[in-house]
Amino acid sequence: MSLIDLHPQTHAFLARSPHGLLIDGQWTPALSGVTYHSVSPSDGQPLAELAAAGREDVDRAVDAARRAFENGWGEMPPAQRERLLRAWADNIAAHAEELAELESLDNGKPIRNTMAIDSKVASSLVYHFSGWPSKIHGHTAPVSVPNHFVYTRRQPVGVAAIIIPWNYPLIHGMQKVAPALACGNTVILKPAQLASLPLLRLGELALEAGLPPGAFNVITGRGSVIGQALAEHPGVNKIQVTGSTAVGRSVIRASAGNIKRLALELGSKAPNIIFDDADLDAAIPGAFRAAFGNSGQSCVAGARLFVHASIFQQVLAGLLQLADAAKIGHALDPDTELGPIVDAVQTQTIMDYIRSGVEQGATLVRGGARLLEGDFGKGFYIEPTIFTDVRDDMIISREEIFGPVLPVYTFESEDEVIRRANDTDYGLAAGVWTQNLARAHRVAARLDAGAVWVNTYDMFDGSAPFGGFKGSGYGRDNGQEVLEAYTEVKSIWIAT
Ligand code: NAP
Ligand code: MG
Repeated sequence: MSLIDLHPQTHAFLARSPHGLLIDGQWTPALSGVTYHSVSPSDGQPLAELAAAGREDVDRAVDAARRAFENGWGEMPPAQRERLLRAWADNIAAHAEELAELESLDNGKPIRNTMAIDSKVASSLVYHFSGWPSKIHGHTAPVSVPNHFVYTRRQPVGVAAIIIPWNYPLIHGMQKVAPALACGNTVILKPAQLASLPLLRLGELALEAGLPPGAFNVITGRGSVIGQALAEHPGVNKIQVTGSTAVGRSVIRASAGNIKRLALELGSKAPNIIFDDADLDAAIPGAFRAAFGNSGQSCVAGARLFVHASIFQQVLAGLLQLADAAKIGHALDPDTELGPIVDAVQTQTIMDYIRSGVEQGATLVRGGARLLEGDFGKGFYIEPTIFTDVRDDMIISREEIFGPVLPVYTFESEDEVIRRANDTDYGLAAGVWTQNLARAHRVAARLDAGAVWVNTYDMFDGSAPFGGFKGSGYGRDNGQEVLEAYTEVKSIWIAT
């Protein structure tokens, strides 16, 4: 194992510990003085000490965001807001390496991924949305009422609270924060405790880029305390939560008081379907990455693999070969393909799911164990795990595992596989592998999912809407749709 040398600025950031909350353009400790430690899941090393905000800090952040909204961010000339967001994007691009390192340290995602994808996508999202402020239009309405001229305006919603999980902190953070700011809202970001470090660095980069105090605030600490307080707060106008379906339900209830605007991106159990006419040279590695990328800790993971019965043995053999070859290791080792699980709790949850698969009679064909020898024992590592002979009603077929565990099923017909793919409480994403063009369109249209990838998987862009059907939530990130969601539309009637 040979780990990368951290960038001097990454060392410098870690040395600035204890890290405060970003409120009103200032770094400030929690009023209670309470802190917590962030730990690397690769080797259990403590990384930094962070402020654990309480309800009183939420009040301070909401006050600051409200003042910033009223003092100009909401009304700033669009070209000026564009320049500030572009300066932030430039700064994020210039510091991509440290951001990638901070994410890999904090949540254990392999450095080859955070360098090539997460840190680059973060700046590209801010660039994308930085161009929007001057392009958010109203329209004129051709009303039939005589002697009236009617037009619409799109105005910011106000103070937006954004709560994100630990698995894609840079991408989730910027995918939500950038459009919110572009539309003229001010933002309070609440990262997951397990992966707050890269977002704190993004806060520093925002201040350096000249974002006005209070436009972008970052508060760290427990979701059950400050996430709940944000959801209940009468001074928050909009709340966006990405996380589990259980937390989504809790936020729906807590946000009822002032009828907050809500957007929820929740759990998933995405089907990935390989038809007998697929290009297996692409489909097999594609399905492997879909299931085991980020060690399965992905909301869109291709977590149920349906394979046409006639090619099942061939696909399974290919998957087993890839599982055997996958290099598992420390997130900072550039050779690592599968990094650690994020923490002990999540590791135990995944091991319980593996046990339930065995107990319910599925066949464990690969993996299934936690790695404990040598350096592995310092972190949280689970082998890529593959089950066959899995029934659709087993727990491992129904519940989101969020780990490197893949049930593989066979099917005979298109109608059958669509019915089974849709037989889930969720609907975030789906994959289809086929070389038949008509089938690709037919099946994509019938799958209940907010994103369908055909002969590819896990693709994102600022211009393509992303979000869930059914229990995966409502509202969309990206695309025109996210701009609508961060604005209120007003009809103005003028008697002529
Ligand atoms: P989680 O436990 O639901 O946490 C998500 C965020 O919500 C964290 O910041 C968490 O804070 C906070 N939170 C916890 N309790 C809260 C409450 N009562 N009120 C408000 N906020 C609260 O999810 P996770 O375990 O971090 O992430 C895994 C889940 O997220 C999976 O179900 C996955 O599918 C889903 N996810 C969905 C998407 C998507 O785009 N649909 C993307 C990624 C992940 P703390 O953890 O810091 O306490
Ligand atoms: Mg961490």
